[in-house]
Amino acid sequence: MKLTSLQDLYLHTLKDIYYAEQQILKELPGMAEKASDEELRQAFTDHVAETETQIGRLEQVFEMLGETVDSETCPAIDGILKEAKKLMRDLEDPEALDAGMIAAAQAVEHYEFTRYGTLASWARTLGHSDAVALLEASRDEEIGADVKLTRLGEAWVNRQAVA
Ligand code: ZN
Ligand code: FE
Ligand code: FE
Ligand code: FE
Repeated sequence: MKLTSLQDLYLHTLKDIYYAEQQILKELPGMAEKASDEELRQAFTDHVAETETQIGRLEQVFEMLGETVDSETCPAIDGILKEAKKLMRDLEDPEALDAGMIAAAQAVEHYEFTRYGTLASWARTLGHSDAVALLEASRDEEIGADVKLTRLGEAWVNRQAVA
């Protein structure tokens, strides 16, 4: 599809992150299951519910635009998740697996918040002020998830240092 305007690009990117959220939703329960650290398991489980909320917000944004809810393959999230799954297969030590999943999940959160940040700024430029609040709410949740993962990653490093 040829993109001829910021409006087209905005819609295209909404479909991209809508696809990405669906893929993430499929992987999170397996990551929760494989986590050894109780707090990490809880963080992944909590993010399943947040991800469902984010998918709902995107559906609202499509509706506000009068567009049908649709997705477009996002090769970036496919690559990030493919790398995560390979790492999870390769890491046999449970402690190392936790560290690997924290790192992989942070890559996911960073991808998501750059997308939501861009979408919120385009929505503002395009005058879709009703969508701005929704996109910023999701952006802030992704940033919150990343902050939590950073804290868990640091706690993990500290445990290794005293072990
Ligand atoms: Zn496209
Ligand atoms: Fe998300
Ligand atoms: Fe993408
Ligand atoms: Fe997320």
